[in-house]
Amino acid sequence: MLKLDDTGPRLLIIDDDPLLRGMAAHTLRHAGFDVNEAEDGVQGLALIEQAPFDLLLLDVMMPHLDGYEVCKRLRQTRYGSRVPVLMLTGLNDSASVELAYEAGATDFISKPINWTLLTHRVRYSLRAGVAIESATRSRERLERAHHIANMGSWEWGADGQRFVCSPELARVLAAPPEVVMQARPDDFLALIADTDRETVRALRLAALVEGEPYQLTFAIRRFDGEVRTVFEQAAAVIDHNGRQVSVEGITQDITDRVEAEERIKRLAHYDVLTGLPNRQFFSEMVGPTLDRSARLSAGCAMLYIDMDRFKSVNDAIGYAQGDSVLRLISGRLKASIRTSDLAMDARAPSQESMVSRVGANAFTLLLVDIADDKQAALVADRLLQAIAEPIAFEDRELVLTASIGIALYPRDATDAEGLTRCAEQAAYAAKSAGRAQHRFFDEAMNVRASARLARETDLRHAITDGQLRLHYQAKVDAGSGLITGAEALVRWQHPERGMVSPGEFIPLAEESGLILPLTDWVLETACADLRRRADMGLRMVPVSVNLSSPSFADDGLRAQLEALLKQYRLDPSCLVLEVTESLLMSDVERAVARLQELRELGFRVSLDDFGTGYSSLGYLKRFPIDELKIDRSFVTDAWRGGRDGAIAVSVIALGRAFGLQVVAEGVETMGQSTFLLAHGCAQQQGFLFAKPLPSVDFEALLLDNKVLPHKPDQAVHPAPSSGTRVTVT
Ligand code: C2E
Ligand code: CA
Ligand code: CA
Repeated sequence: MLKLDDTGPRLLIIDDDPLLRGMAAHTLRHAGFDVNEAEDGVQGLALIEQAPFDLLLLDVMMPHLDGYEVCKRLRQTRYGSRVPVLMLTGLNDSASVELAYEAGATDFISKPINWTLLTHRVRYSLRAGVAIESATRSRERLERAHHIANMGSWEWGADGQRFVCSPELARVLAAPPEVVMQARPDDFLALIADTDRETVRALRLAALVEGEPYQLTFAIRRFDGEVRTVFEQAAAVIDHNGRQVSVEGITQDITDRVEAEERIKRLAHYDVLTGLPNRQFFSEMVGPTLDRSARLSAGCAMLYIDMDRFKSVNDAIGYAQGDSVLRLISGRLKASIRTSDLAMDARAPSQESMVSRVGANAFTLLLVDIADDKQAALVADRLLQAIAEPIAFEDRELVLTASIGIALYPRDATDAEGLTRCAEQAAYAAKSAGRAQHRFFDEAMNVRASARLARETDLRHAITDGQLRLHYQAKVDAGSGLITGAEALVRWQHPERGMVSPGEFIPLAEESGLILPLTDWVLETACADLRRRADMGLRMVPVSVNLSSPSFADDGLRAQLEALLKQYRLDPSCLVLEVTESLLMSDVERAVARLQELRELGFRVSLDDFGTGYSSLGYLKRFPIDELKIDRSFVTDAWRGGRDGAIAVSVIALGRAFGLQVVAEGVETMGQSTFLLAHGCAQQQGFLFAKPLPSVDFEALLLDNKVLPHKPDQAVHPAPSSGTRVTVT
């Protein structure tokens, strides 16, 4: 290593001739070098071990250890491998010069020494040493860089035969040493994937013959069999005569980067579950396809495929299995497009038909170049068939259906978004028409859809702008006429349409998600009314509130109820929560847990519309409830006997057997009331006693404490005297 301080480069002279050694030292010290001396090889090596030198002058002929041997040993040490060694040889013959180089000498100086030249030779060697050192270092740096970048270099000789491969390239290609030692160009070409091999060969040749540089990414199968993606860059090497001598290139393994990019692309463009394009990517693809169809004046069809009742599939088999069912369906969709016999038709949708997953259980599909709408209908029916193939599932068989909406391009819409929207509306119509079928889009759907949207907006305002009212319908003990409770029933006081019944807007609220804020309002209003009644000193009768499925499933329900009780200082026994069977059946386990939780808090639970749903005895046993409400449909004709009568009678018996309170709803006539009472159902609710009334009117009833059947002439009970008032303390 060349020293940069002012003592000058450190030299070591090893020579057994003291005279010569002294003169050399003198000359070189005079020239500014820091000179050390050793009188034989052993002493010299010892000095070198103590501290490194920048250059060695080494006599060949020495006793014990000659100069060749010293040089050889020096070269084997880590430090000594690079230090310049000048051999002092008295034997000016080519054999000893040869031997000196073989031993690793950098250069030689023959004796007798020309003292004037000695200094120059030493200086020259030192300079060369520095240059070599820095070249070595930069080569090492390059190798390290190549190593890090997973790249290697190669050189292909102009004769077309010689292929020199850097150790780094050998690593990139997982090449065994024997291949690297005698690399032949063909060995390396053979690694390239069939599809790319000729391209690479042609490019390399063009670089060699015409000096044309190139860059290319291609796949290789490494010597160890692994397939990787590489990026290669090469250019011709031209000598000082302007002749092309070789092609030099670097080859970089970019597999990891490519894979990472692919992953990112997949995540951005594809649905993780099915591997199908996602909504956004699908729209991007549809645009150009439609443009192309426009140029060809060809038609397209957009199909919106919405799986029917998929939620209950998920409920029944769990989400993980539900996911695999969706994957299976997406595979069927793709397959039935591919094998479509429409492909026999020259104008038929081709490979360009595209499927994508656009919602949790919805897919879209674009049929390209269809001749007419009949073709689209054919494909839709084929898809419905494919979807309906039974799916073996554990010991069961699952048969799924879908509703498919079809929108035509350019008739219904001319862009991806418009087409999808129309197809979705048509699918919605197919669903309403009974599912498991296809429907074409028509303008009326559009009108209906916008009307629906307008109603939704309207309802949203109703909730926030105070257009809702809460009415109360008395629940009565038919034997005594005593009011035992009230059902809270919501009304919409519409600024233009007047009083709108819940039968009209509850379904809309449920579909749009507005049911949650609506229920919040009902619960709060019911609690506020209860508080007011208590403050007025009225008798407290519990209020029943209807809970729709989203409200019942809402994890915030418990906290919300507790907060309301606290705020209005009410006892949980003030509230009865009315739920329907179908609501409970969508997830029985969870429903049971939720019911238990609510009852432990002190709320009572009533099973509404009993008789219209599953009415499964097994489930009735499992659900922890307090009350059964016999649906009006059984009540209406019960008194005539017959089937409805039998059902009503057995429901009453069943409820009593389970220790439940049984309430008959929709009691309109004395005949019905008497029949029910006779069969043990005293709790009744219906127009016979009271219609749903605004809170003040209901409170007036409460004040009387009792209600009378509306048609006194048919009354089976004597008219009650004025009721006793019970006050709450
Ligand atoms: P529901 O829970 O079965 O409520 C009983 C319905 O029967 C009420 O209709 C009531 O007015 C009606 N009704 C009562 N007695 C008689 C009768 O003697 N004859 C006849 N023909 N009908 C009678 P309404 O108020 O129109 O409510 C309809 C449905 O809307 C309710 O059925 C309930 O499912 C739902 N609903 C009402 N208010 C709410 C609410 O606040 N939240 C939720 N989630 N749903 C509600
Ligand atoms: Ca109800
Ligand atoms: Ca009911």
